[in-house]
Amino acid sequence: RTKAAGRNNWQFFNSSMARLVEHRLDMETALRQALDKEEFRLVYQPQYSLQTDSIIGAEALLRWDRPGVGLIPTQEFIRVAEDSGLIVALGNWVLRTACCQAAAWHRVGFRVRIAVNVSVTQLRQADFVERVRDELAHSGLPPHCLELEITEGALISDIVEALDKLHEIKAMGVELAVDDFGTGYSSLSYLKQMPVDRLKVDQSFVRDIPSNSDDCAIVRAILAMASNLNLEVIAEGVESEPQMEFLRGEGCQEIQGFLLSPAVSADNFLKRFFGAGRGRAVKWREKLGGR
Ligand code: C2E
Ligand code: MG
Ligand code: MG
Ligand code: MG
Repeated sequence: RTKAAGRNNWQFFNSSMARLVEHRLDMETALRQALDKEEFRLVYQPQYSLQTDSIIGAEALLRWDRPGVGLIPTQEFIRVAEDSGLIVALGNWVLRTACCQAAAWHRVGFRVRIAVNVSVTQLRQADFVERVRDELAHSGLPPHCLELEITEGALISDIVEALDKLHEIKAMGVELAVDDFGTGYSSLSYLKQMPVDRLKVDQSFVRDIPSNSDDCAIVRAILAMASNLNLEVIAEGVESEPQMEFLRGEGCQEIQGFLLSPAVSADNFLKRFFGAGRGRAVKWREKLGGR
């Protein structure tokens, strides 16, 4: 490699780094203003019980439609919000909005559980338990109808600090789920100590069942362990009937994924899933117009 080429590489590196930093600062500024400007919204993805063959819950997922730019991938802006600390205000908004939405559904007779993603930065806030208590009181949602999802990786790094808070939240009657389970290398002894109700099997393990025998073995092992620890299991990213039937056959309690529906607006969630009656997932889809 010549000296000149090296210099060019350096310049390219320099300017692309600068662009990256600029892009990030720009996104951070825009994020700061987006809450006031009401650019965020929640969409809701159904959670389906394989035991009762009915919709029993919804996961609230955050969307940011940035004017002039379009929909920003959620993981991308969540990362910036986490690094800048904005996730605390944003997470509080999510918690409040999701609880109020679920309470509104309850008032018309649609008694679903609402699952809310919580970032580890939120969990670290001294007043986090109080926030949860306040939002339940403010919305009137029964505590057992709120589930907090915490990713497995987050739990490990902050386990000691988080444990007391998790127990307090659990004591209120709120449910706790470990999100992206299987990707965080959590030790089973931690799991035993944690007051969790449900494991969410990460979609990477669901993708290739039932054809990939390794993934089948992993899912079976998670189900066996969960059953022994008295935990329920929900599988994420279920996209096909063979995946669903495998999970049903292995005793998995709940599923979530594009097979049933992607996340939809609150209005559409109510229209599509309330009063559609019971029936197997496939029949559900037929009723919903073969989505
Ligand atoms: P997650 O909590 O594990 O959510 C599941 C993600 O998988 C969602 O992506 C969902 O749209 C997507 N998904 C659902 N079903 C399927 C399927 O059948 N196939 C495939 N390929 N994907 C499916 P989304 O909405 O882009 O969210 C990405 C992540 O961003 C979430 O992962 C969660 O970690 C985070 N996130 C979303 N909303 C919030 C929030 O309000 N607060 C925090 N702290 N994090 C959030
Ligand atoms: Mg989640
Ligand atoms: Mg997940
Ligand atoms: Mg995830």
